[in-house]
Order: sequence, then C-alpha cells, then structure tokens
Amino acid sequence: MQFTGKHFVVIGAKRSGLAAIDLLQKQGARVTAIDSQPSSLGAMQVVAQTEENLKGADVIVLSPGVPYDLPMLENARARGIPTIGEIELASYFLKGPVIGVTGSNGKTTTTALTGHLLQQCGIRCQVGGNIGTAAASLIESSSPEQWNVLELSSFQLESIEHFHASIAACLNVTPDHLDRHHTFEIYANAKGRLFDTQQESDFAVLNYDDAVCREFASRTIARTVWFSSTGRAPAGFSLSGEAIQFNGIAFLSRSQIRLRGMHNVENVMAAAAIAHLAGARLEDIATAVTSFPGVEHRIEFVRKLDGVEYYNDSKATNVDATLKAVDAFPGGLWIILGGKDKGSDYTPLRGPLAERAKGALLIGAARPLIQNALAGAVPLTDCETLENAVAYARSHASSGDTVLLAPACASFDQFENYERRGERFKHLVAELS
Ligand code: ADP
Repeated sequence: MQFTGKHFVVIGAKRSGLAAIDLLQKQGARVTAIDSQPSSLGAMQVVAQTEENLKGADVIVLSPGVPYDLPMLENARARGIPTIGEIELASYFLKGPVIGVTGSNGKTTTTALTGHLLQQCGIRCQVGGNIGTAAASLIESSSPEQWNVLELSSFQLESIEHFHASIAACLNVTPDHLDRHHTFEIYANAKGRLFDTQQESDFAVLNYDDAVCREFASRTIARTVWFSSTGRAPAGFSLSGEAIQFNGIAFLSRSQIRLRGMHNVENVMAAAAIAHLAGARLEDIATAVTSFPGVEHRIEFVRKLDGVEYYNDSKATNVDATLKAVDAFPGGLWIILGGKDKGSDYTPLRGPLAERAKGALLIGAARPLIQNALAGAVPLTDCETLENAVAYARSHASSGDTVLLAPACASFDQFENYERRGERFKHLVAELS
C-alpha cells in the first residue's frame, strides 16, 4: 500500500485512532481525523462523522469502536475505497512475529499472562493491541527477534486481510456484543478471521471444549494445538485431576495457579501452550505461572472484613463471565448484578445463583430485565446504585460469605467504563468500617 501523499481518513480519534494517525503522518500520508465527537488535536481538527467528510479519501482506517457495516462505509467500499482496521494498518509495519489472543472472555488475562511467561522465560516480547498500547504504537519498538503479543477483539478482527498471527489463540466464543454484530454467527465469524489469515507454518491454539473453537480448527491451515479443562482433547494441554499436562505428561499443579476458577486454568493452559510454541520450556513456564498475580478488575480480591470477603470482577460485563465468577466460589455469595444491558439472556444465571447465592443486589438500567429473568431463583434486592448495594451487602452478609461484583452488564449507564466501576467498588469497600 502506498502512503506518501495519499489521503487517509481515520475514523475514531481515541487510543487506536490516535495511534493510526501518528503512524500515518510519520509515513508521509495526508490524514483527516473524524469522530462522532468533533474536537481539536493540537494543530489538527477532528471533524464530524459525516459522509461528506469521507470525500477524497484514498483509504479509510477504522478504530475498533467503529462498526464495519456503517452505511457510509458500505457506500465508500461500493465506490472502491478500501476500509481497513487499525490492526491491519499496523501489520504492514510491525516487525517480528505476532501472537494473537482472542475469545469472548479471558483475552486480557491470557495476553498479560503470555507476556509474563515469555518475559520470565527469557523470550523477548512486547504486549499490546486491545490491552494497553495500541498495535500501531508498537511499531517503533518492534524488532525481528521480538514477539508482538496482541490481545484482539472481534471488532479488530472482523476486517483483517493481510494481518496474520504466527501463533493465534481463541479461548472461547460465547454470545457478546450482539448489539454491534447482530447475530452470533457474524460475531463468531469475526473471531474466526484470525485463523483464516494464518499460514501453514503457523499454530492455532484452541479450546477443545468450545464448539466454535473446534470449528476454527477446520477452517485454518495452521497446525492446531488443543487445550482442554475436561481432559477430552486428543492431545495437547489438558487438566487431569489436579495436574496440567502436555501430551499426557504433568508439568504444573492446579494449586500453583494463584488465580481463582476453572476458567483461569483454561487461560493458563492457553498461555502455556503459546509460550511453549514460542520456545519456552515447560518447567520454566510452570515456575513463571506461580508468580503471575492476575489482572485488576478480574476476580480481584479486595478485602476481608468481619469474615466476609469482597471481590471485584467489574470486568464481568457479560453473562458467561459472571457464570465463571460464580463458579469460582463454593457458595455464600452476595452478587452485585446490573448496568447497561447488551441484549443478554440472564436466565442461565438462575441455576448457579439458586445454588450458590444468598442474594442478588441489582444496580443500573438493566434491573427490570434481570429481575424478570431471575425472579424466584434467588432473593433479589433492587439497590439501584453500587453505593446502596455495598451498604446492603455489608449489613446482610455474615462471616464466611463473599460479596462479589460481577455485574454481567456493561457499565456505561452509571460509569465511564468498567475500570471506574471497579475502582468505585474498591473505594466503597475500603471505606466500610
Ligand atoms: P477479556 O479481555 O476477554 O474481556 P478478561 O481477562 O479481561 O477477558 O476477563 C473478562 C471477564 O471474563 C472477567 O470477569 C473474568 O473473570 C472472566 N474470564 C476470564 N477468563 C475467562 C475464560 N477463559 N472463560 C470465561 N470467563 C473468563
């Protein structure tokens, strides 16, 4: 692709968009930035997101937040203007092999853990993508001998063509973001793009226990390495009793993993598979796993007060993540649920909550929907706000119980993002006396 003197229009002027603008300007391109919220970027004006402002574009670059199927983009493609994502753009310049991690849940944990394992095992890498640094900002620090470990969302993957990962992993595919992708098939297909663009010498690390992941194995020409927490996979990484094995040989015990829950065993197996394929020895991987502290807002221990433990899983923004969090505790749960609904079905929570929860404390805009879905399964309290929910939990939980923020919803109705929600929760818990 030609850059010098070409006119690129970047849509979305936040983290990834800004990284793309910077990269394009360094390549000598003429850049227009557009966003649904116009602003000024130093000397550059960010103009409104209108069809008019796409005029004269040679190429359109999309931030992950921008739907690929916007009518104005369909029109642009019909006029022959390529529309590429920021990850695709970055891949034209990134030096060194790529590790791509996707999945509905567990991407950040597994990506961070993979970076940790590689570093601890003396294998050079840098970590970014959907986590931390945008891929387009990793170009200057990239080098042929260093792995680029990228967390990749369905939004980043849906339009890739040239981008390919030498080691690509998918943890699971469960319904999420259906407000943007419309159907589960379209959403799953977006994730599957990661495996479509692989080459024969590449590796696909896939969850054998997930039906969609198993399908990805048949659509990639890369070699598949399975992981499985049920021990059903024909080969690869699996859990057998308390032992994590590679091709039947134990190299790590479950008790050495500091993170709670079976889903984190899956994340560990995926990251171990990736690190092993990138050249790390299994015994070094096992040592490195034990020193991984976990990631903030993912079943994060906050405090123990009068025998009650408080956990922050604000990142549980969909039903599946909440189910995993509930599964990570034996019982006595006071769970805080609610926020902005994403078109989710909350009824799968009925059985697990009936079994393990003493009460569900509802907050945010999704309260009526959750109330309808869970009525009769678990005692429900309409708390409206996180403040009320924490106060209610404090006065009702008894020694041995656990208060868990795992809302199964996005945060945007009451908070800027899930981080602010988790921070607020931790602050409220810290203030309890
Ligand atoms: P992502 O980046 O895909 O959102 P995170 O690692 O940030 O993944 O975790 C998001 C949420 O999903 C957290 O609530 C976490 O506890 C839960 N989770 C983590 N790993 C898994 C997994 N393998 N399967 C299901 N849920 C998971």
